[in-house]
Amino acid sequence: MPQSISVKTSSRVEMVDITPSVQKEVSRIGVTDGICVVYVPHTTAGITINEGADPAVCHDVISMLNKLVPENAGYRHMEGNSDSHIKTSIIGSSVTVIIEKGHIVLGTWQKIFFCEFDGPRSRKVYLKTM
Ligand code: ZN
Repeated sequence: MPQSISVKTSSRVEMVDITPSVQKEVSRIGVTDGICVVYVPHTTAGITINEGADPAVCHDVISMLNKLVPENAGYRHMEGNSDSHIKTSIIGSSVTVIIEKGHIVLGTWQKIFFCEFDGPRSRKVYLKTM
């Protein structure tokens, strides 16, 4: 199994800033120069990098995803969470960040967000550094 971090979500749809956890794990692994793949092994949760300074941005992203992909829209999938699967495919399952001098390199306003689309649940995020 790859290195992983745990994420506990508290809403059905939610963006959780996992930047500190990713940095902590990169520091623990000890890679000082390279890349880190941050991968979500779930079919109803994704990951993205976006603005973390103004929480209204996450609110707007979630609000628009909910508008684009409503919870009920005559889907076929028996489990009743097709919107969660579709949102996951839109957002994607991994991001890659650069590591320099032991620190993940992000833009001034950027954070790494775990995107829950069928919570609340206990989730995993895999990390692979090279
Ligand atoms: Zn499903």
